[in-house]
Amino acid sequence: MTTLVIKNLAVSVGGTQILNDVSLTINSGEVHAVMGPNGAGKSTLSAALMGKPGYTVTSGSVTLDGVDVLALPTWQRATAGLHLIMQYPTEIPGVMLQEAMSAALDARNQDSRQLKQLIETEAKRIGFDPELVTRSVNVDFSGGEKKRSETLQLSVLQPKIAILDELDSGLDIDALRDCAQRVEDATREINLGVLVITHYSRLFEQLKPDFVHILTNGRIVKSAGPELADELEVTGYAAYTNV
Ligand code: ADP
Ligand code: MG
Repeated sequence: MTTLVIKNLAVSVGGTQILNDVSLTINSGEVHAVMGPNGAGKSTLSAALMGKPGYTVTSGSVTLDGVDVLALPTWQRATAGLHLIMQYPTEIPGVMLQEAMSAALDARNQDSRQLKQLIETEAKRIGFDPELVTRSVNVDFSGGEKKRSETLQLSVLQPKIAILDELDSGLDIDALRDCAQRVEDATREINLGVLVITHYSRLFEQLKPDFVHILTNGRIVKSAGPELADELEVTGYAAYTNV
């Protein structure tokens, strides 16, 4: 059982305060959706959690099973069990996808001898062409291939908590279904805890949220059960943007 506790988190970017007083607790196996309009601060939250340069935590804390995440460099946050699927996955010319996963397993002191077999099995589950693992990470991948590649990395590395920043942006319906279903499966197979960031509820058809939080203007203004996502489908964010 793992718990990620985000307490009263405030984050500034380039001297501008973007997030204020954000608190969330995510346990193993739970799916928390953070929904909000463009510019609300959703990607800022994911960047701050992973330690992206330029994102300054001005107050608050983030702990993973009591360990101060904010004191760790990004790679140690990853080996501690945090995993981010980025809204716009980074292309890394010259770094082969398979080698990147092998190095990531080594950094976790996990056996990488079965990696080829694991990649074949996992690639098949999400409809990813396993040949692509011999190419540079995300370079010249289509939008769907990029998100499938990111989902493949998640399923191979088996993190404790995954942050999905708009998994649904830039990919077609089939790829979204495959990726969202794979993450939903992981909540049961490896008890993965999930923070899923989106502004559409379409991906909830596969990945079922237990909690839905509305983030607007850098604050969480409402938290409720999955019914809140259904309400948002009808009303939009208008009722919450001036809270
Ligand atoms: P969302 O993901 O919810 O659409 P973001 O977290 O990307 O929102 O952005 C929140 C706000 O922070 C926006 O007003 C955006 O312009 C600003 N912002 C994000 N990143 C930067 C940055 N690197 N420099 C300056 N402003 C930024
Ligand atoms: Mg964003």
